[in-house]
Amino acid sequence: MSNPVPITVAHGDGIGPEIMDATLTILREAGAALSIEPIEIGEAVYKRGLTAGIEPSAWESLRRTKVFLKAPITTPQGGGFKSLNVTVRKTLGLYANVRPCVAYAPYVDTKHPGMDLVIVRENEEDVYGGIEHQQTPEVVQCLKLITQPGSEKIVRYAFEYAVRNKRKKVTCFTKDNIMKMTDGLFHKTFDEVGAEYPDIEKEHWIVDIGAAKMADTPTAFDVIVMPNLYGDILSDVAAQIAGSVGLAGSANIGEQCAMFEAIHGSAPRRAGQNLANPSGLLLGGVMMLVHINQAGVAARVHNAWLRTIEDGIHTYDIFQEGVSKQKVGTREFARAVCDRLGKLPEKLKAVNYTAVPSDKIKSWTRKPRPTKETIGIDVFLDWTPGAPDELAAQLQKLQTDGLPLTMITNRGTKVWPDGMPETFCTDHWRCRFRSKSGGPVPHSELSALLSRIAAAGLDFIKTENLCKFDGKESYSRGQGE
Ligand code: NAD
Repeated sequence: MSNPVPITVAHGDGIGPEIMDATLTILREAGAALSIEPIEIGEAVYKRGLTAGIEPSAWESLRRTKVFLKAPITTPQGGGFKSLNVTVRKTLGLYANVRPCVAYAPYVDTKHPGMDLVIVRENEEDVYGGIEHQQTPEVVQCLKLITQPGSEKIVRYAFEYAVRNKRKKVTCFTKDNIMKMTDGLFHKTFDEVGAEYPDIEKEHWIVDIGAAKMADTPTAFDVIVMPNLYGDILSDVAAQIAGSVGLAGSANIGEQCAMFEAIHGSAPRRAGQNLANPSGLLLGGVMMLVHINQAGVAARVHNAWLRTIEDGIHTYDIFQEGVSKQKVGTREFARAVCDRLGKLPEKLKAVNYTAVPSDKIKSWTRKPRPTKETIGIDVFLDWTPGAPDELAAQLQKLQTDGLPLTMITNRGTKVWPDGMPETFCTDHWRCRFRSKSGGPVPHSELSALLSRIAAAGLDFIKTENLCKFDGKESYSRGQGE
């Protein structure tokens, strides 16, 4: 047996300890070489007043072992508690969330026999920065940040995953017909990185129709890569329509650390009764074994598990009269899997993992910095709804010849010049001042403009600079402009 690999393990809350014991029993009996370091996370830690749900000392273990097998936890009701998952993901830089969604027909009831897709979700960016502000009495804002490095890392991960797992196609979902810059960057990165993988089929869908197609015909997809929010929603949809929310595991992968878990929660009502299905966490554990280069053991566990499912040995949540053979508890299920170690499924497709060290993923490289010119500014005002022409008249008194007011929008729609009286307006106005020549404007001129706006008694709530990168204007136009 190879040297034991240190891993950090959290037994979690609710059904967590039972499914973790079952999982570790199977991994051990399968011959996984693991040295386990337990840490405490979850409800008890939250209740001790640590709002992140994790003891500061636990980070030491996580940062040293770099591998985290985590059972679900209970997040206490009420405000003030931070999501432990989000904290761990962002602190350890776990940028890729990988969730295989597989149907096990006819042994587990499903709407889509044959479904076998993997959602690769960007895990750190998008609106999950949680940068939100109330700007006016009527308007709140959440900042959606998509970065070039973040997009490149996740898209590359999806293609590398496809190559290693002998997948044929990678699909990208975005909404870049509307968000041309943010989702547009993600899509463009997909096209650029995808070109390096000529043997993998590539396609892009607008997320709305793509999601509809996925829910209707999931067999049309193989690997799907998405920005964070779409991935969060659609990975749950995909797991649910596979018919196996209780069976799905997931991996959160970073450049240095990784976390593996079941996708379900702590199911507190089922806790302590030897009822829970340990399969989701076990399949998370299988992904962990592949990650730590114990691919042979991973396949041994996964195939024994498939054989158990196929033999009709089922926990209550997937038990079906006439299909299942035996209803078992958590411990008995684990025993049944252990008894089948070394066997392959006869009807379901057996798995075969190849050991490819995770550090072989080509790393991200920073692109050369483009030239940048600031050519104007969008000044956002809190202004009691009134006639846009009236606001424009006030602002035109504050403009200069070189930096005139060129447009006012409300919720993104142009209301001046030549607005339509039908357009609904709130108290949140974007006022665009753009260099007349299209050439650069010094920051001192922008701050002088802001000083004049303040002196005129207008309430500016934020500004965005209008920039050209490598000579290309890089901001959105107003709707109707
Ligand atoms: P849940 O996934 O815990 O349970 C929903 C239902 O699914 C349960 O009532 C149970 O009937 C069933 N179920 C789930 N897992 C099962 C299993 N392994 N075997 C058998 N049946 C299973 O979702 P919930 O009830 O919304 O959340 C309960 C708690 O879990 C909450 O505190 C929530 O915050 C937390 N949660 C934690 C995680 C995590 O740690 N990753 C994820 C989701 C929810």
